[in-house]
Amino acid sequence: MAQLILLGTGAAWSGPARENTYMLLRGAAINILIDVAGSPAQRLAQIGLGPHEIDSILLTHNHPDHIYGLPIFILNAWMAGRRKPLDIYGLPETLRAAQMMLKAIDTRAWPDFFKIKYHTLMVNPRAILALAEFEIEAMQSKHFVPTIALRLTNRVTGKCVAYSADTSPDEHIVQIARGADVLLHEATQLDESKEGHSSALEAGQAAAAADVKRLILIHVPPEVREQKWRRAAKQHFRGRVSVARDFDVIEF
Ligand SMILES: [Zn+2]
Repeated sequence: MAQLILLGTGAAWSGPARENTYMLLRGAAINILIDVAGSPAQRLAQIGLGPHEIDSILLTHNHPDHIYGLPIFILNAWMAGRRKPLDIYGLPETLRAAQMMLKAIDTRAWPDFFKIKYHTLMVNPRAILALAEFEIEAMQSKHFVPTIALRLTNRVTGKCVAYSADTSPDEHIVQIARGADVLLHEATQLDESKEGHSSALEAGQAAAAADVKRLILIHVPPEVREQKWRRAAKQHFRGRVSVARDFDVIEF
């Protein structure tokens, strides 16, 4: 059984109860961070993992709330004795931002600093990665900058979780989430439409259109009221709806 552990569930302005949105995909033989926000080593310590135990990082896009944890993660992994290479996956624009951030902190002076291997994802219309027991599919979402939505399939159990990342309502999200066991969908606002992001109501529409089993709302603002957000999503979606909280675990 694989786990998707939500290390942060807040929007860019995250509020007192939530870190910015990022998560750990934990398999039998691989640990993959999906985005890196907040204080990742501190969050990982709470689930009994060290930063050197992360094998790969998959970045959805280059907005600060999704990648600003990268420099401290790199430092802590090196301090923890990491010497094996670190794989980072993302779109060209995202990797460029990651490289510039790491260039700014200049790791050349760190003795035995580990190698970082950048892997560019080309999504026209989709990229597929096979990492240990997971098949990871990426398609472009509809955001202010190039961003990828993901479908994470556990090839052992056959179960899958789709993650919208940051997005306005878009056909790609419905495609990538089609029939998923869980759709983790951003809900930056309650029911009004705004460019670049989705409301809880729109997340419910996507869940219904993709015919998923369960919807979890993530990337929620400080003013989130869970019952209101759930009720808005349920206007269109008949399945189970919940609002993500930091350290929730999705097993699949
Ligand atoms: Zn964003």
